[in-house]
Amino acid sequence: MRKLIVISAPSGAGKTSVVHFLLKNIPKLSFSISACSRQKRENETDGEDYYFLGVDEFKSKIKEDAFLEWEEVYSNQFYGTLRSEVEKIWKKQKTAIFDIDVVGGINIKNQYPDECLSIFISPPSMKELRNRLNKRGTDLAKDIEIRLAKAEEEMGQSKAFDVVIVNRDLDTTCKKALSLINNFINYKA
Ligand code: 5GP
Repeated sequence: MRKLIVISAPSGAGKTSVVHFLLKNIPKLSFSISACSRQKRENETDGEDYYFLGVDEFKSKIKEDAFLEWEEVYSNQFYGTLRSEVEKIWKKQKTAIFDIDVVGGINIKNQYPDECLSIFISPPSMKELRNRLNKRGTDLAKDIEIRLAKAEEEMGQSKAFDVVIVNRDLDTTCKKALSLINNFINYKA
């Protein structure tokens, strides 16, 4: 069966670290590289972290119906999953894993209710999330406020996910996710 794993969380809750751990420990998983219209950060690589398309190219792909899902996550910042990306992963007999925002995650789960396991990683508190975003140092103060406002909204949507893991300790969170996903992948429907 073609399977998908969605990992969603408010920005800064630790989901990227969890996804890296899972990719290292479950060979069957293949990361679905999203497309986005924002500028590349210094530590990012085009075609690895994202396909960095300009706004115009992103919009023309929307017109071509090239996206499984897409969203304007922040004002004039578009993110989306290309259909071709998921097809490529399934062709390799692999399971696609998504590091994606909450609305996108719910959207994918709705399109593949049986084939998809959706996991929400929750920060222990909003205070802790603010600390983590400040520590990360990749975002401007104004962007941190925008991300925190969005995070609050996203926490309210966690019920739409199959599983919620509260990330108090990264190691424990990673191990929980690992076990859930292994069970899901090995279960032959
Ligand atoms: P960042 O700019 O911090 O890399 O990502 C901003 C937000 O966009 C994150 O919440 C991230 O999960 C989300 N995102 C990344 N890829 C996708 C995607 O393909 N679709 C949607 N809907 N959101 C995405």
